[in-house]
Amino acid sequence: MISTLTKSIYINGEWLEVDESKTQTIYNPATLEPITDVAYGGKEETREAINAASNAFPAWSEMTGRQRSRILYKAAELMRKDAKRLGEILTKEQGKPLPEAVGEVKGAAGFLLWYAEEASRGYGEWIPSSVKTKRMLVVPKPIGVVGAITPWNFPSSMITRKLGPALAAGCTVVLKPSPETPLSAIEIVKIFEEAGMPPGVVNLITGDAQAIGEEMLTNKDVKLITFTGSTAVGKYLMREAADQVKKVSLELGGHAPIIAFEDANLEKTASLAIASKFRNNGQTCICANRLYVHESIADELTALLKEKLEAMKIGSGLEEGVELGPLISEKAVEKVEAHLADALEKGAEVVASGNEWDGDLKGYFCPPTIVKNATDDMVVMNEETFGPLFPIQTFTDEDEVIKKANNTDYGLAAYIFTENTARTLRVAEKLDYGMVGVNDVFPSVPEAPFGGIKQSGSGGKEGGHHGMDEFLEKKLISIAIN
Ligand code: NAP
Repeated sequence: MISTLTKSIYINGEWLEVDESKTQTIYNPATLEPITDVAYGGKEETREAINAASNAFPAWSEMTGRQRSRILYKAAELMRKDAKRLGEILTKEQGKPLPEAVGEVKGAAGFLLWYAEEASRGYGEWIPSSVKTKRMLVVPKPIGVVGAITPWNFPSSMITRKLGPALAAGCTVVLKPSPETPLSAIEIVKIFEEAGMPPGVVNLITGDAQAIGEEMLTNKDVKLITFTGSTAVGKYLMREAADQVKKVSLELGGHAPIIAFEDANLEKTASLAIASKFRNNGQTCICANRLYVHESIADELTALLKEKLEAMKIGSGLEEGVELGPLISEKAVEKVEAHLADALEKGAEVVASGNEWDGDLKGYFCPPTIVKNATDDMVVMNEETFGPLFPIQTFTDEDEVIKKANNTDYGLAAYIFTENTARTLRVAEKLDYGMVGVNDVFPSVPEAPFGGIKQSGSGGKEGGHHGMDEFLEKKLISIAIN
């Protein structure tokens, strides 16, 4: 029995009443209990939101960066102050353990803070002309209305990583969050409202992805679609955007290798490999998908991984001490099970399987598993598992392992563990990835550019001063002075 309706469509500074015949239920993935119903919007609401964003664009883009930054600062501050409550909402709808959720909210506020600072720094260029009587200026201009589409795995930070730079640059936005996790998006919009965001600058639509996407793709007022999600949907958006030569910026899936060399610090490698693989229960675009370990340290490292995994508590993310929550859906659990079955059929051996969880929990739980003897033909070694399955393969030769690590269409993140500086540079330079972590598995921070190459992304980076570039067009003003 659903008891509540939550307004989730926000257009031109107004929350639309929920039409009870068009709703969608949000469930807690740990208990499968309904949390609330939200509105299920479509083409019409999206068109209205785009109109509102379009009407708000001139005034917002003509404000000074300083004026925009004040609102972003305030939003960042409000978010940080409310991190615990926002974290609880995030955990309820998404499942991740509360400390991770609160950490995500603080990180999300960090993006707003960073772009509050960047808002005043949209520098242009003065180009010395080859003609004596000409002057050439390059002026950055906000691109216009932006359609932002985000996934469920980081329901807070994936939004502010897009909206922070978009708003700082002077763009207005129509946001479509994931249907699994609209509640964090609603809270973020309320924070913007409280921070004094003018009506129409940020608009929110929940509902029919296909219809919302189609309107964003075909409506000429939308100048850029910024998308984070699967490579399959990213390809679809890229194809459809071609009709209008609409700009799309894509942050897509990954298949990150970790390479542990013979000189790696074993304790550090084991702790960080576990943190990378099992953060958000493996549902992270940059989480380790496969571990290559040098034959000489394989037994010792595997034993440490087993010990660490078996010490992790599984359960509801709201319970004290839980490090592994549920997965997002039944389909996600089935995918992990299918990858594990395929690996076992092809000769993998289970090294460790996590603890049991509270039997009363009816949610999408899945035992975390480490397997060894992984071979290149296993599905888990090639496809994004997006769940708690960690395959290990041994290697002996540096060149050979680099070749294996690069043998994928993905190119988001890769990690190496070594204490050798020359090897660090040699290997990091040869890995075909947008990001390489060296004894580090957390490259996502507000001040640095995040993004993939190959089929893991296209368009610009998110984060850092680079993150503003996607939202600014460079206009040339060529002036004859004679
Ligand atoms: P997804 O299925 O591609 O969905 C992402 C978003 O796109 C959702 O809001 C979804 O809404 C929407 N969508 C789906 N079809 C659409 C369409 N035809 N038009 C418009 N919007 C559409 O991905 P996901 O399962 O939510 O997220 C997991 C994926 O995201 C993984 O592959 C992960 O690696 C990737 N990811 C990448 C990064 C990065 O920075 N590179 C970060 C986080 C996650 P519906 O669910 O309603 O269809």
